[in-house]
Amino acid sequence: MAAVFTGQTALVTGAATGIGRATALALAAEGARVWINHRNQHDPAERAVEQIIASGGCAWAIEADVSDPAAVAAMFEAIEAHGPLDLLVNNAGVILEKPFLETSEEDWAMVLGVDLAGVYRCCRHALARMQPRRSGAIVNVASDLGFLGREQYTAYCTAKAGVIGLTRSLAREFAADGIRINGVAPGPIATAMVSPEHMSDEWMAQELAIPMARLGTPEEVAAAIVFLLSPQASYFTGQLLGPNGGSWMGA
Ligand code: NAD
Repeated sequence: MAAVFTGQTALVTGAATGIGRATALALAAEGARVWINHRNQHDPAERAVEQIIASGGCAWAIEADVSDPAAVAAMFEAIEAHGPLDLLVNNAGVILEKPFLETSEEDWAMVLGVDLAGVYRCCRHALARMQPRRSGAIVNVASDLGFLGREQYTAYCTAKAGVIGLTRSLAREFAADGIRINGVAPGPIATAMVSPEHMSDEWMAQELAIPMARLGTPEEVAAAIVFLLSPQASYFTGQLLGPNGGSWMGA
């Protein structure tokens, strides 16, 4: 039986590490040719490419800061010069833990610039090309904190709430074009983004009140992203799946 994404090309942003890396590997395992976007992470990005190629897949690394409009434009030009982009995963993100009154204009612009404007920008470039072809699928990586909010993380939570609104609005606007746009809103996942002191299962259960009382894995999020991009999810658009151990059950 043919793999799910045979003949299709995917771009995963921030794919040198964590959830993005796991997603790139999972898409490649299902037959997609994968562009591994990164910012200043040549070695881990190349290692992911090598791992995919060693497994019989096809992948390339491509550097671009998603907060830089010119760099993103150049990335999409370079990708489309190889062939049409079918699948986009907006995963690149940064987090900032700071009391709100210490969150400067620069902090705010930095977090929103990557976590929200980066998603807007990549969606625009992708959709401008997908719309005339009347095909494509996008998954945006939000967070359960986009629903819940969290003290000391206001810029991050605001950006992720924005990603949810962006995802739902684009889903409505592009449904008639045959393009599905969904999101995932993970709970705490064991990646570099979660600080080591917050890694214990006890902390998950008591401080975060997570019913499953453990961190998720990047692969558990990747599985949800792969599903949403696949034909199995053909009636899903504007949806947020929550690989979150039960941290948020409202959407
Ligand atoms: P991570 O730090 O391993 O991954 C984030 C990746 O984004 C890194 O590779 C980083 O280099 C890249 N990146 C950052 N800024 C970039 C930019 N301007 N341009 C291009 N790439 C950039 O952590 P992760 O947990 O795998 O995070 C992936 C996504 O998942 C993020 O959007 C994050 O907000 C989201 N998320 C993570 C958790 C969690 O608990 N780990 C929970 C919910 C959502």
